[in-house]
Order: sequence, then structure tokens, then C-alpha cells
Amino acid sequence: MSNKSDGSGASRRRFLLVSAAGLATAPLARVAFAQGGEKVDENSPAAKALDYHHDASKVTNPKRKKDQFCHNCQFFQGKAQDQWGPCLVFPGKQVAGAGWCSSWLAKT
Ligand code: SF4
Repeated sequence: MSNKSDGSGASRRRFLLVSAAGLATAPLARVAFAQGGEKVDENSPAAKALDYHHDASKVTNPKRKKDQFCHNCQFFQGKAQDQWGPCLVFPGKQVAGAGWCSSWLAKT
């Protein structure tokens, strides 16, 4: 009885330790993901094709409205207050929260 009980207790403790470790590292993993990747090169063909700029105030494209920024675009994967974050349109790259491109789409 004691062997079975001890084994079960050890498994439960191991499970709890692993779960706690997972919970503790999850925010770090999210931060690492959010900060990972190179910044989009504004002079790259893809960025130029979409008129992407790190600083939306430098955009002269008449399509852009004053309140449109990467941080409030549906494709921005960071939080609204993040200075940089991943964008679905530029896979593996970071875009500026204050940036903009012609693929901008309002968050729903
Ligand atoms: Fe910024 Fe949206 Fe364009 Fe991505 S798709 S670069 S988040 S405006």
C-alpha cells in the first residue's frame, strides 16, 4: 500500500512541478516570441511594394488615415502598446507599432 501511495504521490508532485514550471516560463516564451525576428527592412522589395514605414507619419500614401498604425492593425501580433511586434504580412519579421503599410486592416 505504501509503495503504491508513494509512487502516486511522487507522480503528482512531479506533475505539479512540471506544470508550475510551464506556467512560470510561458510569459517568457511569449516575450521571446514577441521580441524575436529582425525588423522589416523598409528598403526591401516586400516593404516597398506595400509602402511600409516604421514611422507612419512619413507615409505619403493617400490611402493611409491618420489613426492607422501597425499597433491597431488586424495583422499585428504584438500588444497595442508594443513598440515592435510580429506581423502576419511579414512572416518572421518585426514591424513597428507606430508603422504602417498599405495592407492595414482594422482590428475586429
Ligand atoms: Fe503594419 Fe498591418 Fe501592414 Fe503589418 S499589415 S505592416 S501590422 S499595417
